[in-house]
Amino acid sequence: MNLLDSNDQECAPTDLIWIDSHCHFDFPQWHSQRDEHWQLAQTLGVQSLIIPGITIEQNQQVAQFCADTPWQFALGLHPYFLAQHGDNDLDALERLLSRTVESQQSPAIAVGEIGLDWVLAKQADDPDAARAQQWQLFEAQVVLAERYQLPLILHIRGCHDQAASWLRRRRFSFGGIVHAFSGSEQQAKAWLDLGFKLGIGGAMTFPRANKLRNTISSLPLSAWVLETDAPDMRPAFFRQGVSSPVAIPLYGAILATLKQVSLMEVSVQNQNNLLSLFPGLKT
Ligand SMILES: [Zn+2]
Repeated sequence: MNLLDSNDQECAPTDLIWIDSHCHFDFPQWHSQRDEHWQLAQTLGVQSLIIPGITIEQNQQVAQFCADTPWQFALGLHPYFLAQHGDNDLDALERLLSRTVESQQSPAIAVGEIGLDWVLAKQADDPDAARAQQWQLFEAQVVLAERYQLPLILHIRGCHDQAASWLRRRRFSFGGIVHAFSGSEQQAKAWLDLGFKLGIGGAMTFPRANKLRNTISSLPLSAWVLETDAPDMRPAFFRQGVSSPVAIPLYGAILATLKQVSLMEVSVQNQNNLLSLFPGLKT
């Protein structure tokens, strides 16, 4: 299929603007290849990316890491690193949030990556205790998002129904992104009703991901935001190496094919979807 429809014939791919809504571009794996990947991504039209917070040490460095770049960041404590989070980390996170929110130059645009991972909890020695600990950390950070009026970047695995209904009951109203969405169409709709967008990327490229591709086709373009989760979630078409923000335009092309719309429409809608969540986003 020709991905550029007749309206786009004069529009070279580099005229399109792309944003990676979830990229761990500060991970040490990038050390020797970050510049190379970012240069190539920019050549392909990627203008910005959002780096989520994961541990308190990384949260303390991410604002500085993004300084003088078009990259933006969220602050949060990821459920994957539960064992590393100390008793004082939530207080430290709140101090960082208040400092960056007051800063005119580089405010955190969201609280994240936070969430609940029941797949991970199941592997713990005491799954009930692991779930309880995750809830405690998650709830405390949702309270911070409410206090600072920020959207969320969520990592949810195996508990979409519980997480969405809990946020609905507390009338959480700042929306956000459910990153790496792979739930059902019904679960997708529950998140959309709550004012969230759904992050899609590498998972939709695999031959067996028919259910996800069907969900993507059946919901409007306003539901989706593109993400790589780089260096994780390598797409099917990269046989080696890591996932990278250079893949974002290719994800845009897949989304255009699934939705039967032009690449330009996907590019513009991706920006608009992100701007509706993060009005201060650099594009
Ligand atoms: Zn992530």
